[in-house]
Amino acid sequence: LRAHCAPVTVDNGVVIGSVTAFEDISTHKEIDRMKSDFVAMVAHELKSPLASIEQMIYALQIGCEHESGAACSTMHNRITVRTRDLLSMIDNLLNLSKMENGTVEFNLEPIRGHEVLDHILDVITLQAKNRGITITYNPSEEEWWFNVDYDHIRSACMNIISNAVKYTPDGGKVDISTSISGGFANIVVKDSGIGISKEDLPHIFDRFFRVKGKATRHITGSGLGLSLVKEVVDAHQGYIEVNSELEKGTTFTLSFPITPQPAMEEKATIESQ
Ligand code: ADP
Repeated sequence: LRAHCAPVTVDNGVVIGSVTAFEDISTHKEIDRMKSDFVAMVAHELKSPLASIEQMIYALQIGCEHESGAACSTMHNRITVRTRDLLSMIDNLLNLSKMENGTVEFNLEPIRGHEVLDHILDVITLQAKNRGITITYNPSEEEWWFNVDYDHIRSACMNIISNAVKYTPDGGKVDISTSISGGFANIVVKDSGIGISKEDLPHIFDRFFRVKGKATRHITGSGLGLSLVKEVVDAHQGYIEVNSELEKGTTFTLSFPITPQPAMEEKATIESQ
């Protein structure tokens, strides 16, 4: 409690008492504490990849005089990957804070569902191939449209699909399918990866949350991807479902309300027939 005191005086200036108002500041304190926890968390998350980049640059400076070209190029690759991780984490953070302040702009337009997935698959299939991961894609027979911000939806779907690849050991499988039911389009991403325990599952959408353990130790990430996915899905009146079993795999389902096929598209389809 914070006390605000004021003296009560009479006409001749003599103090005859005081008035005290008590203000409950526990909520302010809690918000202040959350803000400083958040700043500490961000500082920590930025510091560790930067420290490792600095070490690698140092090792490169010393090592390149003695090491082979191959060793130097591996080091260069690691620096590139860590820098990209860092940039994507900063992008995610900026987007998250914009979404929270309500300053993010969602430019909604009718988008063909299959178009979003086709673009993502082009990128991800190549990455998966390098690790011997098979990606299968079963789009719904029927075409569907949803009224969405293309960039945000693409990044949400990309986060889910790239996580599926990232958390699946080499040689595994990722199955992607889409379906329509009850006015919603469902995007289902099923992997044969490391899975998530029952204890960790409720926390995966929290900022900076990453499962700690042997299976995830060597996988890089910021723990921001899924919190961003959740914000994007909520902003589009969609919902997310997750089912997972340790060492068996995980299935994420993103569902979004569908909209009728736009008139222009209808015309283009009729003309092309
Ligand atoms: P990160 O940048 O760490 O991948 P995310 O917010 O995308 O952060 O995910 C949070 C955590 O949830 C991850 O660190 C990982 O432990 C877990 N996770 C997310 N997707 C999967 C998945 N498909 N399989 C297993 N674990 C997953």
